[in-house]
Amino acid sequence: MLVIRDFKCSECGKVTEKIVGYRRLKVICKCGCAAYRFFSISNTKPHGTWIPSVLEVVDKNGGQHCQEFLKHPNRTNYENWKKKTGLRHLEPGEKLPQRESREDKFKRIKPELLKKAREREVITI
Ligand SMILES: [Zn+2]
Repeated sequence: MLVIRDFKCSECGKVTEKIVGYRRLKVICKCGCAAYRFFSISNTKPHGTWIPSVLEVVDKNGGQHCQEFLKHPNRTNYENWKKKTGLRHLEPGEKLPQRESREDKFKRIKPELLKKAREREVITI
């Protein structure tokens, strides 16, 4: 099933609209970094309106914590689902966690790759 979803880049913060499978939680931003599916729960909305947006991301084929929450979408089951999945909503004004940029990662990994490549050469000679 394909749906339109918003993804927010963990690096540049750009929000991208994409047509993806409904369970997709991550895409690659134009800048090359990971962009994550996001949904927000506004404190100003009347109670209950946040539930549909959360239920959209619940794994329909997931474990009991998913099934319980889908069947009875209340705060308790939401809290339980969050605990089991490790997912949670962004607090109002909260930014997505910063991830290591591609460049930093490469800088960090490069010496190790070079070392491994040299070792390999030594073995093959
Ligand atoms: Zn980006």
